[in-house]
Amino acid sequence: MSEQSQSLFEDAISVLDRAAAYADIDPEAIEKLKHPRAMLTVSIPVRMDDGSLQVFTGYRVQHDGTRGPTKGGIRYHPKADIDEVKALAFWMTCKCAVVGIPYGGAKGGITVNPKELSRMELERLSRGFVQQVADFIGPDTDIPAPDVYTNAMIMGWMMDEYSKIQRHHTPAVITGKPVELGGSLGRDDATGRGAYYCIKELEERKGWNPSETTVAVQGFGNAGQHVAKLLHADGYKIVAISDSHGGIYSPDGFDVPSIIKMKDETREVRAVYCSGALCESVPSTSISNAELLELDVDLLIPAALEKQITADNAPRIQAQHIIEVANGPITSEASRMLSERGILIVPDILANAGGVTVSYFEWVQNKAGYYWDLEEVHERLHKIMRREFDLVYRRMMDKEIDMRTAAYAHALSRIGTAIAAQGTRAYFANGTA
Ligand code: GLU
Repeated sequence: MSEQSQSLFEDAISVLDRAAAYADIDPEAIEKLKHPRAMLTVSIPVRMDDGSLQVFTGYRVQHDGTRGPTKGGIRYHPKADIDEVKALAFWMTCKCAVVGIPYGGAKGGITVNPKELSRMELERLSRGFVQQVADFIGPDTDIPAPDVYTNAMIMGWMMDEYSKIQRHHTPAVITGKPVELGGSLGRDDATGRGAYYCIKELEERKGWNPSETTVAVQGFGNAGQHVAKLLHADGYKIVAISDSHGGIYSPDGFDVPSIIKMKDETREVRAVYCSGALCESVPSTSISNAELLELDVDLLIPAALEKQITADNAPRIQAQHIIEVANGPITSEASRMLSERGILIVPDILANAGGVTVSYFEWVQNKAGYYWDLEEVHERLHKIMRREFDLVYRRMMDKEIDMRTAAYAHALSRIGTAIAAQGTRAYFANGTA
């Protein structure tokens, strides 16, 4: 079967058997993780601005709840389907275990191109989704958050809709809300910041000099923009940036804040330098997304969608370090090929775990009704990312395995000990209490 037609979920779970060999986990638990706990598909009728009715399809998958309520974002994308949402939910289970936060994994999606909707249609769709899944989610059962093409305002609408259905204010049902509506400070850049902290850990171990380190970023949404901005502020050379329309390249590096400003204003990635409100074009070469991935840079950051690096283009990848800010940007076959070539991949379930970690902080603050300052959020996030990066890195070195296998083994050990705490076959089949 070609990689493009293979199920994303099947490809995602293929890591389990390999990683289990290096983890403290019962084989029964591995079998359990190959099957999502519950899957819901809903139809969402929406009255469009022109008076017509359009019916959208939405999904919510809860993968595993051993370690706590399930947690994970909702994406709006024309290609979202149940297979993708299942894979994303599985990754959330592992991601929450990697960073040791007390959640299982879930994910949601709606098959829609949100760029084709008016703002009012988007609000009706978002509220309509919550009406359909209200019995499936909840602050102690399953807690959504933003993902691809969803944002804080959408989370605010969803929280409001859920609260109306329950007839009491329930901020902890969803995270990534606007700060004014119970969101956490520092949630907006948390995914990019978590990845940045991972890169700082690598920098320390590899002895990089930022001003001599070149970086290419594929995808300029929330996570891509923030990681680029933080690295640029540290002196890293961001030589290539792309979004869904294509990209720009300059060996001298770009002024990232100027490009973000332009993207905010025009929705396009353009090579500019801004001084105050005045922006001027700077020399650059136009490149495609495919070309960006194959650039000869020190650090490659895929921050867009799944399956960007496959067995087809893996042989042409030149970067020696890849930080997976997107979920699932590299297929399992490509990952194996790159690792064999000695390319270090910081896997998604670690590299982009900053988002859900600050989501956890938001949920804790909502439940306590007491809010932290930004410094506290950053400190706590940094502490977790540094500690878990180090544990994964050490497991990789000790066992002589790639970092993805090490991260899964780390996650599986946490899930495995949680399952064992309730008793496994070895316990039950073994005599009296
Ligand atoms: N959608 C993000 C992810 O893939 C964040 C999930 C969350 O905050 O619950 O990790």
